[in-house]
Amino acid sequence: MVSDLQKRIRQNLAEVRERMAQAARRSGRSPESIQLVAVTKFAEEEAIRALVEAGCTILGESRPQQLWEKAAALADLPVRWHLIGHLQRNKAKRTLPLVDMIHSVDSLELAGTLNRLAEGSGRRVRVLLEVNVSGEAAKHGFAPAEVVVPLLLDLGRLSHLEVCGLMCMASLEGGLDAARRDFAALRELRDRLWADCPETVRLDELSMGMSGDFEVAIEEGATMVRIGSALFEER
Ligand SMILES: *Cc1c(COP(=O)(O)O)cnc(C)c1O
Repeated sequence: MVSDLQKRIRQNLAEVRERMAQAARRSGRSPESIQLVAVTKFAEEEAIRALVEAGCTILGESRPQQLWEKAAALADLPVRWHLIGHLQRNKAKRTLPLVDMIHSVDSLELAGTLNRLAEGSGRRVRVLLEVNVSGEAAKHGFAPAEVVVPLLLDLGRLSHLEVCGLMCMASLEGGLDAARRDFAALRELRDRLWADCPETVRLDELSMGMSGDFEVAIEEGATMVRIGSALFEER
């Protein structure tokens, strides 16, 4: 028996994937080159299970504590967790073993802490650098002017940290035009750094775009989109 919940989630997922694919084609890229991170912060366990059953296995949480709880409750599922929100250093130790990627590294200190913990547990940790492209005071992230080659050189020396790219959130104000400007700014920052980027740092991934703006983000070069409400909401 397929429940109404399962039907709704499957339909939402199919629609989101189709919209992602269309945006990818519009920008001349293959739909497979863009990863969907399903953001579970407002979703009930049953809905998350339905989503995973429907084939979406990369899950994202913005709060470490919620990630710990959900990862424990869903430990039987074949999923990979991404932390997409601010991580305080005192929560890093408990978070690290649970996650496949951290999108929200916003200081060299946090990077150092993660590197040390990863080394202690004999693994490498994949991260993105969060950049506050919109400059809003309430947002975390490096200021764009801080993300320069010397920072990448410092990060590149952390042998258990794998920098894979950049992440941003668009301005709350200004609608899709402002969002497009912010996404383009992240891509342009990446492109400027690319030539002088140390070999130990990669900048392939651009994590940008949420339910309200993911198509614009893909058009501007997103390789990962973080989508919550469009997957889980009732319509
Ligand atoms: C909540 C959240 C999202 C998803 O937001 P929706 O609008 O529900 O798609 C994406 N990224 C971050 C960092 C978030 O906190």
